[in-house]
Formats: sequence, C-alpha cells, structure tokens
Amino acid sequence: MEYNNPIRGENEGITLKVKFWGVRGSAPSATPETAGVGGNTSCVQLLTDQPYVLILDAGTGIRLLGNALVAACQHEDQELYLLLSHTHWDHIQGLPFFKPANSASNTLHVYGANKPQRTLEEVLRGQMDYAYFPVALDEMGAQFRFHPVAEETFVLPGGIEVTTRFFEHPGGVLGYRIAYQGKVVVYATDMEYTVANLDPRLVAFAQGADLLIFDAQYTHEELNFKTGWGHSTYLTAVHLAQAAGVKQLRLFSHDPDRTDTELETLERQAQQHFPATWLAREQQVIDLNLL
Ligand SMILES: [Zn+2]
Repeated sequence: MEYNNPIRGENEGITLKVKFWGVRGSAPSATPETAGVGGNTSCVQLLTDQPYVLILDAGTGIRLLGNALVAACQHEDQELYLLLSHTHWDHIQGLPFFKPANSASNTLHVYGANKPQRTLEEVLRGQMDYAYFPVALDEMGAQFRFHPVAEETFVLPGGIEVTTRFFEHPGGVLGYRIAYQGKVVVYATDMEYTVANLDPRLVAFAQGADLLIFDAQYTHEELNFKTGWGHSTYLTAVHLAQAAGVKQLRLFSHDPDRTDTELETLERQAQQHFPATWLAREQQVIDLNLL
C-alpha cells in the first residue's frame, strides 16, 4: 500500500513506516536500465505520527522528498531531523536541492559525526562553497542546527530513540538503530564486511530488528578488486540478517552500473539464503506493523 502523506501519519494506527527516496550508492544512475529499482542516491524517510520530518541521509533522493513536501504544502513551519551516516557525496549531495531548506520558517536539525580536522557543519558548508554551488548554506533560509554525534543513544521529540555506532568504511560511517513504539529499524549502509570478518558489534547492533537496511553494493567478483572501498555483498547482508535474527532485510546502496535485471537476479540469490530479503526500491514504503 502506498503511503501518500510525505510527512507524518494521518492514518489510524501508524507506528513506523519507511519510505525509500534514494537507494543507489556512489553516484546517481539515470538510465532506462536502472529506472525500475531507482537511480537516486541514499535517502530514506521514517514516517511516524510525530509532527516532524525524519530523514536518513541526503543523497539526491532528498530532492524528491522535498518536492513531495512542497506538493503537500508541508514545507513551511516544519521541524526536520536529518541523520547522516557520513558525508561522502552520495549521502549529502541532494541537500542543496532540498526545497524545505529554503524556508525561513523551518528548522533543520542535522545529526552526524565530526571529522578529526573539520566539524560536520564545516563539511556541509564546504560542499556549498562558491566553487561548487552558487548558493551558500547560510543563504538557504532555514535555521540549521548541527548536532555532532559519536557512539551514543539519544531521544528525539516524542520518544523516538536513536542509537549510533561507528563501522568500517573509508573515513568512517555511523550506523543508526531507531526504535519507536516497539518497532526497530536498523540503517547500516556503506559498510565493508565479509561473511568471514563480520563484526560482532554489528550483529549486536542489528539484533532483533524488524527491518535491516544493509549495504549490498558489490558482487563477490567485484569484491576481489574492490577490497578497501567500503562496501559489502548480498552474502554478507543475508549472513548478518540471519545472525541478528531480523524480520526483514532490504539490500541497499545498489551499484550505479547494476541494471534492474541484474539486481533482481541478486535478489533471488539472496532470498535462497534469507527468504525475507528484497531490494530497496525507490518510492517504496514499508509498514513495520505488517512485517
Ligand atoms: Zn561512503
């Protein structure tokens, strides 16, 4: 069932839903061969009954989320919470095109890790330097509030509990475990593990989740020459899902060169190991109550 309200639950009984606005890793992919699964980079929205917008990552998919908020006249007088896994391009590149960030009546709370030499705020300002983009972050209009996070648990308004841990990726990446009204989503993208070196901390982090969103960018063959590039295969994803006892696994961060047909082959192969596995597909909504 498609869920139309882009901000929050107006339907009865909504606890927690997830909507994928961008599912690609590395770079957007605008080709007919990739359009079915979707070509935008990482952006996932959590739909709750709380009166604010909750978003994971700001890849190019966040542009479409912003457009949906505008279309629903829900782009002003809003509190928006953006949780960033890390600041590689494919996780922040949509932010300059996120229309709600232009409304002076909005407050955008940005969570993420500081770098050793630069704060999160400095990194995000940097991508909007005049050499890269004509509008500076301060000129966008919304009130930006930066919240540096490390490994911790914090609670967003209304009792949405967020737990973060660092995992293996060039430059580091934060995983997010989000719990609300008895349901748990684990967002774990851009992580490099294999079945042989699966981190017990990651298994514990994903333990018992209703929905695990995990990086499955590479094939086994690609891993042979992409070791150290920071991504995993579907085999690692299903192994993690089994070890952590999650209800459903969504393969995420698809390679920009992987066609719909190729991805669906990987999906079938993954299902042979962990049947409750599907590709994360752009525009798709998952109701955690139905898992
Ligand atoms: Zn990355």
